Amino acid sequence: MSGIKILIEKCTGCKLCLKACPFGAMKMEDKKAVILENCTLCGACVSSCKFDAIELKEDKSEAGQDLSAFRGVWVFAEQKYGNSASVSFELLGEGRKLADVLNTELCAVLIGSSLEQAVKELVRYGADKVYKIDNESLEDYNDESYTDIFVQLVNKYKPEIVLMGATTYGRSLAPRVASRLNTGLTADCTGLKIDPEEKILLQTRPAFGGNLMATIICPDHRPQMSTVRPKVMKALEPDDSRTAEIVAPGVSIPADLSVKVKNVVSNLCEMVSLTEADVIVSGGRGIGDPKNFALIEELAKVLNGAVGASRATVDAGWIEYSHQVGQTGKTVGPKVYIACGISGAIQHLAGMSSSDTIIAINKNAEAPIFKVATYGIVGDVLEVLPKLIKEFKQKLA
Ligand SMILES: Cc1cc2nc3c(=O)[nH]c(=O)nc-3n(C[C@H](O)[C@H](O)[C@H](O)COP(=O)(O)OP(=O)(O)OC[C@H]3O[C@@H](n4cnc5c(N)ncnc54)[C@H](O)[C@@H]3O)c2cc1C
Ligand code: SF4
Ligand code: SF4
Repeated sequence: MSGIKILIEKCTGCKLCLKACPFGAMKMEDKKAVILENCTLCGACVSSCKFDAIELKEDKSEAGQDLSAFRGVWVFAEQKYGNSASVSFELLGEGRKLADVLNTELCAVLIGSSLEQAVKELVRYGADKVYKIDNESLEDYNDESYTDIFVQLVNKYKPEIVLMGATTYGRSLAPRVASRLNTGLTADCTGLKIDPEEKILLQTRPAFGGNLMATIICPDHRPQMSTVRPKVMKALEPDDSRTAEIVAPGVSIPADLSVKVKNVVSNLCEMVSLTEADVIVSGGRGIGDPKNFALIEELAKVLNGAVGASRATVDAGWIEYSHQVGQTGKTVGPKVYIACGISGAIQHLAGMSSSDTIIAINKNAEAPIFKVATYGIVGDVLEVLPKLIKEFKQKLA
């Protein structure tokens, strides 16, 4: 069993560990530190003690996990009503590279209902094997049942790497699975590579507001788990000639769920999904007033695109968070991104700079957005937008 104890003979009563504990799980008694019941075994206090008076023992069975028993790269194949999310294909593209370096198989895990079409697509996009859990009760995503099933599968088949999309579902599922398996998880990775010597996964992601890139490893636990935002990795070209093994594993499907999905309502703004859209028209504080989002919406509609937004407009309550593009919003990579009255702060650029063509409209010719823009229009967005709408309407009529 994991455990922590204070070595009384070494404890000087300096109280440094009390300050280091983020959970308030330590107190002083008779001038010695005492660990309370709410200790999470996070280990933060251990390094704070200058007298080596805190001993943290890892669970031997976990530390001594036979890592060589874990083989294969898995992708959680996200889908809604049988339609695969494009991030699943992107993860298969990246997973293919990792699996080839490790000389192992690339597997997709598909949980849902009526999955025939989704299975075919996963094979076309590079899966060697598809684990398919097809059951009517799994039609709607549910944290509880999906986590339980995923954990059962990992325990049974022991993959060494698990990749999930940093989507609404993936961000909810991945930490639950990681926590149940007592393994590590790196969120929002922008780069994945195999260490040539150690053969472990190098998971790179921006840290400290994008000012540095951190490479994170999970050396002692399996599987190594990462989430990756949509549009960050590239899918392979689909190949109709590919074949794969389709496995329908026997798992117990949880029936008595505490959360039951009664109805699913699609948000109007998700009619054209931001992360899937080829064209995005995004509004920033420069549009001046929430009602001017009508112009952004109109141009997006004419171009069959989606509406994006900067955080400033979301924070101001002009538009819902689901539209936010950037470091703390969505990462997008459309063919065309039109930034209207957006300054181009680093946190916004983090979510859209991989767009194929960026068109910026800003009245300030020095605005940083112009540094990444393919085309720039210096002018008042409220004058430029109606002209663009009129022109595109005529051209596309
Ligand atoms: C930890 C952290 C995370 C963040 N995450 C995000 C994120 O995910 N996404 C995000 O967008 N931001 C994010 N931000 C905020 C970011 O730093 C900026 O504050 C934000 O992007 C600014 O939004 P904006 O460009 O709309 O507004 P502003 O910076 O105010 O820019 C408005 C622009 O509009 C131009 N303008 C004004 N009037 C007109 C006009 N009439 N016509 C044309 N142009 C005009 C101005 O010249 C200016 O360039 C984050 C910040 C932090 C600290
Ligand atoms: S930091 Fe170490 S020496 Fe100081 S009170 Fe805590 S356990 Fe004792
Ligand atoms: S292990 Fe973490 S939670 Fe437990 S006492 Fe130390 S700092 Fe607090």
